[in-house]
Amino acid sequence: MRKFFGKGKQKDTAPQSDRPSSNKSRSGGRQRQPHQHKAWDLSRFDVPAVAGKSRFHDLGLGLELMHAIADLGFEYCSPIQAEVLPFTLDGYDAIGKAQTGTGKTAAFLITVITDLLNNPQEERYIGEPRALVIAPTRELVAQIAEDSRKLCKYAGLETALLIGGVDYNRQLKKIEDKVVDIVVATPGRLLDFSRRGHLHLNMVEVLVIDEADRMLDMGFIPQVKQVIAKTPPKRNRQTLLFSATFNQDVLNLCTQWTTNATMVEIEPDSVAVDTVDQKVYMVSAREKFPLLRNLLQQDEVESAIVFANRRDTTRRVYEKLKRAGLSCGMLSGEVSQHLRTRTLDSFKKGDINILVATDVAGRGIHVDNISHVVNYDLPEDPEDYVHRIGRTGRAGKTGTSITFAGEMDSFLLPELEKLLGKKLACEHPPAELLPVH
Ligand code: AMP
Repeated sequence: MRKFFGKGKQKDTAPQSDRPSSNKSRSGGRQRQPHQHKAWDLSRFDVPAVAGKSRFHDLGLGLELMHAIADLGFEYCSPIQAEVLPFTLDGYDAIGKAQTGTGKTAAFLITVITDLLNNPQEERYIGEPRALVIAPTRELVAQIAEDSRKLCKYAGLETALLIGGVDYNRQLKKIEDKVVDIVVATPGRLLDFSRRGHLHLNMVEVLVIDEADRMLDMGFIPQVKQVIAKTPPKRNRQTLLFSATFNQDVLNLCTQWTTNATMVEIEPDSVAVDTVDQKVYMVSAREKFPLLRNLLQQDEVESAIVFANRRDTTRRVYEKLKRAGLSCGMLSGEVSQHLRTRTLDSFKKGDINILVATDVAGRGIHVDNISHVVNYDLPEDPEDYVHRIGRTGRAGKTGTSITFAGEMDSFLLPELEKLLGKKLACEHPPAELLPVH
């Protein structure tokens, strides 16, 4: 179920008009050649009109973008895209209550890219991005940058990724080598670049704040505020804010950072959850690990993510699975960024087929074809459950989630069922998967 509320800005006050103008008077500008898009037209991207579905074709997007969308295999807009794009493409601010898995990344990137293509700036400067996307975790930021590069494939727009834990100078070289249009960053590293004068945010036309709730949880808001203070005032920029959950604190941030925003809410039941077969196994503490190992060794498990609530459990489970000869990797805050990126790449390539992850590290995993998600522990926050199981059942495929509920955490089930709007059938695991006593 989707809900739509709020109003867009009046069209006659379209924010484009009072956006900052280009920096022509400054010296050192570089001229970019207008991008040519040849040898492709919409006849090669035929998507029939279907009642109740929105097509990208009806949004007036540039051919460069349509070509990239066609390459990605998207046909119809996802619900959040269908609801938010008609407003954001007109330059209005938006606040989206949406989880990972809803297509929100493409929703904001399509907005950003369209703005940049429709308002070409003749002279551009090193270190002056026109769009800025900030998100809390390195994995998420890396994923957004990857999506941005795919969507910009024919648009001649440059995306730069700035994250902590990676060599500063290497990142600096990248943003100094070319005029960068879209910067995707975690708040801390972005501030470093801005404070050292390597990045100027005063020409930002579109600002995207993703996972605002996580930013709050992780204590990033002071840094985010400093970043935003360096961008043009909110009436002179377009701001898009996304959050999976909303409480008073998040709403306060929306008021501070957006003007007259359109609000769109995508309820969790329209997230990938519909395409996930959800099982809950009642297990004792000592059955958990052998059950997990036996489960993962079944043929039907092509690739899986195992979520645990704590870093130490994540490590323990990972080490034991490895000792049992399973091909697995670990993603958690205690693993270096370099290793996390390598692990995620090996998983994407299929060199390893199991990941053991914490919630925060697992948020940015956007890999299609994950057949199973196992919740080794029941998450304390029911929203995390939805995030976790949304790692499977993606891109039109079905998936399975298996949740272990023990004596210590079954009390969390009723609240979870309330959020999901349905009862979860708790069952005993199949006897053949249990250890022999
Ligand atoms: P996100 O919510 O941004 O994490 O996106 C979830 C997944 O949906 C990603 O794998 C996207 O590539 C995919 N996706 C986004 N928009 C569409 C669409 N309109 N049609 C099909 N897949 C999509």
